[in-house]
Amino acid sequence: MKTVDLRSDTVTQPTPGMRAAMAAAPVGDDVFGDDPSVNALQEQIAALLGFEAALFVPTGTQSNLCGVLSHCQRGDEYIVGQMQHCYRWEGGGAAVFGSVQPQPLNHQADGTLALADIEAAIKPDDPHFARTRLLALENTLGGKVLPLAYLQQATALARAKGLATHLDGARLFNAAVAQAAVQGSDVRSEARRIASLFDSVSVCFSKGLGAPVGSTLCGNRDFIARARRIRKMAGGGMRQSGVLAAGASYALEHHVERLAQDHALARRLAEGLAGIEGVQVEAPDTNILFVDLTGPARERSAGLLPHLAQHGVLATGLYRLRFATHLDVDAEGVDRAIAAIGSFFAA
Ligand SMILES: *Cc1c(COP(=O)(O)O)cnc(C)c1O
Repeated sequence: MKTVDLRSDTVTQPTPGMRAAMAAAPVGDDVFGDDPSVNALQEQIAALLGFEAALFVPTGTQSNLCGVLSHCQRGDEYIVGQMQHCYRWEGGGAAVFGSVQPQPLNHQADGTLALADIEAAIKPDDPHFARTRLLALENTLGGKVLPLAYLQQATALARAKGLATHLDGARLFNAAVAQAAVQGSDVRSEARRIASLFDSVSVCFSKGLGAPVGSTLCGNRDFIARARRIRKMAGGGMRQSGVLAAGASYALEHHVERLAQDHALARRLAEGLAGIEGVQVEAPDTNILFVDLTGPARERSAGLLPHLAQHGVLATGLYRLRFATHLDVDAEGVDRAIAAIGSFFAA
């Protein structure tokens, strides 16, 4: 029995085609700017998203760190959502390494930060306060797509108030795929439409795009020059990293449009679980599905994950479960997950 791993879209194995591209990649010393595969990836993603420049970094965490620290100085502040990765899940890096103060805001039910909350959080120029310099948003956020009209309003507000804007677009292409499906338009132009609203954008290749390692930070030339210095300081100046960049380039070429399949599988899982008593399913926008256990199902939740593991299904959570679909999940695996969850609560 093949295990279906729904814990995260980071668990993907590089495909044979991706491994071949990585093995064949021409490389050089990227700290000298000599790695042709890194340079090619940086040019591809910058061109695709409409930026002057991009920087290849090992992780999304480092990408966000380089982003925040390139926008902000010591004593500056960034406005961010409570649940955003670059506030909650990155060890407080912007504060620890950059002395940049976060100003976290609560999210609305749709994942957005209320415009009034953003506006109220922007500090006046007064020596009592940190200098509010940056608005950081995330799309998708926990698999939710932030509406384009909202992104336009929020970034316009930030600009009007003199703030820079950063998008944690670890799953930007998932948002673009969902948006393209609604608009009947092209995925890549939707990605560019979202990205064009921001001064900087971080994209992960190691999530649904299926590369083993790597993210890129995009912005204008001066910004990326600053980010390059911070990347070096953070220990992210890699050498023959073209081997990794080639995997990311392969993902960019072959794995963007196929994210639609992951979204379809998340919907299949949601529909399959919808009938089970005590299992409350949130309709997924993209590839991440949240499920809340209620009533008697909640009382039995501790036994669920071990039961699923016995049936070759991996997931995370306790009362609130998270399932992520990705490149290594197929309909058979999803159906097995549905059956295993069903059999647990039927017993
Ligand atoms: C995964 C993730 C990151 C960080 O990426 P790592 O490569 O794990 O450091 C940043 N932002 C979001 C939204 C993510 O999902």
